[in-house]
Amino acid sequence: MLTKRYVSSGAEDNVKIFNEAAFQAFADPSKNKPLKVGLTDYMGGDGTVIRAATVGHGLDIFPEKFSVEAFFHHLVASGIEKPFRTVQLKFLFTQVPIYTALQFVYDPACSVNEISGRYSVLSDNQETLQNDLLTDVSRLSRARYDHLLEDHNLARELARTILGTNTHTSFVWKMNLFELARFVTHQRKFLRPNNLAHEFINQIESIASVAAPYSWSALMNPGKKLSLTYPRDEAIVDPELSPALWSPQETEREVVTAMEDDLFHSHHFLDNGRFQTVDYLGSDQAVVSAARISYGQGTIKKRESAALLRYLIRNAHTSPLEMAVIAVEEKNPFFSDPRQVGRHRTAAWGSFMDEVQLGSQFYLPSKDQLRQQDTTNRQGRAELYSDEVASDILKAMQAISKIQKDTANNLSHEISRLAKGVGFYTRTWRTFDANNNARFLALRLDEHAQWEVRQYAQQVFNAFRLHTPVIAQAFVDYTLETMCFSRLERKAIVDSRVLEGNVLDESSLANLSEREKNELKKKLGLLKP
Ligand SMILES: Cc1cc2nc3c(=O)[nH]c(=O)nc-3n(C[C@H](O)[C@H](O)[C@H](O)COP(=O)(O)OP(=O)(O)OC[C@H]3O[C@@H](n4cnc5c(N)ncnc54)[C@H](O)[C@@H]3O)c2cc1C
Repeated sequence: MLTKRYVSSGAEDNVKIFNEAAFQAFADPSKNKPLKVGLTDYMGGDGTVIRAATVGHGLDIFPEKFSVEAFFHHLVASGIEKPFRTVQLKFLFTQVPIYTALQFVYDPACSVNEISGRYSVLSDNQETLQNDLLTDVSRLSRARYDHLLEDHNLARELARTILGTNTHTSFVWKMNLFELARFVTHQRKFLRPNNLAHEFINQIESIASVAAPYSWSALMNPGKKLSLTYPRDEAIVDPELSPALWSPQETEREVVTAMEDDLFHSHHFLDNGRFQTVDYLGSDQAVVSAARISYGQGTIKKRESAALLRYLIRNAHTSPLEMAVIAVEEKNPFFSDPRQVGRHRTAAWGSFMDEVQLGSQFYLPSKDQLRQQDTTNRQGRAELYSDEVASDILKAMQAISKIQKDTANNLSHEISRLAKGVGFYTRTWRTFDANNNARFLALRLDEHAQWEVRQYAQQVFNAFRLHTPVIAQAFVDYTLETMCFSRLERKAIVDSRVLEGNVLDESSLANLSEREKNELKKKLGLLKP
């Protein structure tokens, strides 16, 4: 399939080889070699690191001549690490002893979904080593486990407690390139030489080093800083958002057509606000696949994909949602992003070479947004002004912003930013995964959020709906438009018998699944919890 996303040839080769081998191994496990670890999906590469570091401009914006390789070393040597977060590598681990897996699944920077065994049949495989004592105890514990299940029908989650930590597990594991380099470096220092995790770490490093070769080389062996001339802020922020720095190419990855149609299409909001999607990872389906790793074989046939996604979101099983990511570029007034949006720490973001530039454009509200202070909500707005007063206020805002701009023009870069108001526009990029995106949107689409930030959140929400429409709809149904009752409110509803005859009209429940109907009846005290 063709994609407008950045294509890494090294990552493509790995995805192709691994997915073909995985298909064969699952089709006939008796004939095909078991897989250990491989790349199943990715986002970004060296090209997106350059793009993010220069917020879409590319290296031509610097007047100096230097090699691409030297630029990557400069980023790392200067501590500019955020652009490396635009590269995300998603691996599938299939034959990992539980004890070895713990090195991977508890790293705070990874997105992971494991066969927990809580919902599924555990793997029958165990790691075998050339050691008779170990082999004996493994066989014995597996035999006792089978006995407890077959002869006593013991709950599986209890029987499992006697299984060896050498029992195999499988998991989907995603990490951005910056954290991956930190992870590999740390594990190599920490692990004893004979730890089995080394084999897996070597394999993921060999994949990372071809998926983003310049980035990986610089992250693992930081070189020297360059002496670079940065353009003035206006030259960075004021231009329209840039088109792709690359042309469409074939990809082995799943393609989301609605996103492909939207990529690098600049949407307008506020007076000078701009928003465009520039990359994505995964889809609704990728989240379903990650979830099924933990829901196991037994449940695959029972649930439709959409129903499974809705179930996950309704019950806050959110880790599979981290397998769907969008990357965006934007122009926003400084008071909006980074000042408010930037508080959402779980969305990676960055600006030109990690400094926040303020351009020459200043946000002026439209007359229908120019309102008096609300008397009850200290962060809200109330009455409109007459046209005449509104014009006077806008003129005053324009006048002071011009003085600020003129003053800034006579100052050096960094000091000039202090002369400007927080209404001047900035230019940044962000990556959101579907889980953190939903959390962000719940707060910033809400009527309590500043109107201007809501306009930006609406752009993010539009992209969310294009990328993962089923997840976005479930977010609307189970988060955005959901209200919780406190214990006291619920008691009041039940005690006051607002439900006529204490029964619900079944016809009003037509849109709910059987499970949801029962949950509602429990909440209203019509069924025992
Ligand atoms: C209407 C509105 C008004 C606001 N007013 C103010 C205000 O007056 N003053 C103000 O300072 N802020 C204000 N905020 C910002 C708000 O407090 C949050 O900082 C912001 O919305 C980010 O939310 P978050 O922490 O859930 O997001 P994220 O930072 O993305 O965090 C997501 C989740 O991860 C957890 N998390 C992330 N990083 C860490 C960490 N390092 N340690 C522990 N847990 C972590 C968070 O607790 C949260 O549960 C306002 C926000 C809104 C929507």
